[in-house]
Amino acid sequence: MAGDPISRHFTRPMHSLPRRIAILGSTGSIGRSTLEVVRHSRGQFAVVALTAHRSCDELCQQAREFGPRYVVVTDDEQARTFNWSGLPRGTELLTGQAAVERVVQSPHIDVVVAAVVGSAGLTGTWAALDAGKTVALANKETLVMAGPLVTQLAATRGAKILPVDSEHSAVFQLLDRSPGHTPRDMTAVRRIILTASGGPFRDRTRSEMEQATVADALAHPTWQMGRKITIDSATMMNKALEIIEARWLFDLPPGQIDVVIHPQSIVHSLVEFNDGSVLAQLSPPDMKLPIQYALTWPDRIDSPARRLDLSQALRLDFEPPDEDRFPALGLGREVAALGGTAGAVLNAANEAAVASFLAGELSFMEIVSACRAVLDSHSFSPAPTLDELLAVDRWARQEISRWICA
Ligand code: NDP
Ligand code: MG
Repeated sequence: MAGDPISRHFTRPMHSLPRRIAILGSTGSIGRSTLEVVRHSRGQFAVVALTAHRSCDELCQQAREFGPRYVVVTDDEQARTFNWSGLPRGTELLTGQAAVERVVQSPHIDVVVAAVVGSAGLTGTWAALDAGKTVALANKETLVMAGPLVTQLAATRGAKILPVDSEHSAVFQLLDRSPGHTPRDMTAVRRIILTASGGPFRDRTRSEMEQATVADALAHPTWQMGRKITIDSATMMNKALEIIEARWLFDLPPGQIDVVIHPQSIVHSLVEFNDGSVLAQLSPPDMKLPIQYALTWPDRIDSPARRLDLSQALRLDFEPPDEDRFPALGLGREVAALGGTAGAVLNAANEAAVASFLAGELSFMEIVSACRAVLDSHSFSPAPTLDELLAVDRWARQEISRWICA
């Protein structure tokens, strides 16, 4: 049996429905879709905790609707200045990152949805796994930064990591690791093929991409998402991060992880087996399906996600990615092969570069060039501790600022 964080505990019984959940980042795109799943499920989930960084008003409204035991705001200043008189009586307000780490360890929580954006999501996810919780993981940056340490922690604590990212959910569904089923023998898997929409610049020339504005890059053709991941999709850094995410999640060498452009975003990924058989998972682009599957696994229940309508003509295209216009893909493969500190450096450099692009300090094509420069200038360490990873994260962000000023 493969040594990845999903299959390792496939025989452990999952808490039956209803499940008690915490949503870290409930005011974001994934957080709101998760609440839509909860709304639709009519009693299959109890919301125990919700967290936000600064969106106090929306968090308060969510608390009124879902009545959680805790709400946590990580930005202390925002929490202090907001008028909380509308918070329901039974809900306790906590502030600061340390409060998130305490709350996720509550015995009243079964599943933690990790839907914070960026490396800020690492410590909450870490605390949840440390307490042996099941984590429905949207925050891919956690695995990109610290894949080996995070999967090791899950193994030691008997915690499960269930993917929310649609491509990884597709692979997870195709490998069919439900309890009671024999898990796939990973030696029979020849490769996994992650699909990518190609983003808004799939058909643009390099010189058009060099002139791209923030509005152009935010105009994703198939997915509605938060700003950071939308820019990552335009550079295809998102797919680079997903190669690294898959490498740790499924314990597969990067040589067995391929990428194909599929503009319709209906096939979410494919698995090719030794005998040449290729399985695919299909559904319209709607995150509510992979979110719900991570929450109900190994069960399936009716979902609010859009359904595939095969009574209409349906066209599915596939083409190889253009590595020249999208050099992020090469970076992703390289970092997946290197491991060590490389993932934390790439992730932090990219977060800082995307923030700089959104602030008008970097051009679109410079996002990946800056990441390449920072990655090349870092002194690689093969087996870092968590503290070392947090230190290289800070270093890489400073290096992006220096690259911009140079
Ligand atoms: P959003 O930007 O829409 O939401 C981010 C959430 O994180 C918000 O609740 C935000 O709170 C909170 N947050 C932001 N900064 C911090 C911080 N420093 N500390 C604590 N909380 C913080 O992001 P998405 O929902 O789009 O993405 C979330 C994660 O899911 C990302 O890792 C992304 O890669 C992944 N993902 C997203 C997909 C999508 O369809 N959106 C698809 C696949 C993966 P506030 O509102 O208060 O700022
Ligand atoms: Mg994805």
